[in-house]
Amino acid sequence: MQTAPFFGVTRHRINIDGEGIVTLACFGGCPLRCSYCINPRCFEDTGKWKKLSTEQLYEQTKIDNLYFLATGGGITFGGGEPLLRSDFIREFRELCGDQWHLLVETSLNVPANHVTALLPIINHWIVDVKDMNPDIYKAYTGKENTQVIENLKILTENGLNKHVTIRLPLIPNFNTEEDRQNSLAQLKEWGFEEFDLFDYKIKQ
Ligand code: SF4
Repeated sequence: MQTAPFFGVTRHRINIDGEGIVTLACFGGCPLRCSYCINPRCFEDTGKWKKLSTEQLYEQTKIDNLYFLATGGGITFGGGEPLLRSDFIREFRELCGDQWHLLVETSLNVPANHVTALLPIINHWIVDVKDMNPDIYKAYTGKENTQVIENLKILTENGLNKHVTIRLPLIPNFNTEEDRQNSLAQLKEWGFEEFDLFDYKIKQ
């Protein structure tokens, strides 16, 4: 049985991390180091995370089964980086069955095998691409975005464009509205249709 570290499991998130009533399950650990990380807890000492097996998470979350079924909700896996736990998520799908909606909030900056493993079982992908410009991306996250681009192509090649929401933040001191519009144009050209444009608020 798969186990994984979590830094938070939060019930009753309504229309925030996906449609309907959702439980947000946040895995510890992330390969990126975004300058304004929204979840710095994912870098805490691993001893502070709670380890759960797939069965323990299912037992903990099934209390909301009726809410999930009535509202089209389910579990949103965030983090940190949930795609690094693709084996855990696949095993969780076997336990919860087909009716719950499973979402991932991901940077897609992971080896492609994790994406392909999840293609058949994820209902919706929320992808935080940051910025498509490689230099901006590297300055902000500390990593290249070649893997992100490869994985976006995997999603389009598998006809999943309608099941993807792309987050495009305006990141103070790193990109401009013009950069963001360039990212938007490129992604629209690749067939993506749903975007979430928002501004990071930082303390100056
Ligand atoms: S991808 Fe998310 S969790 Fe990881 S460093 Fe960036 S903001 Fe933080």
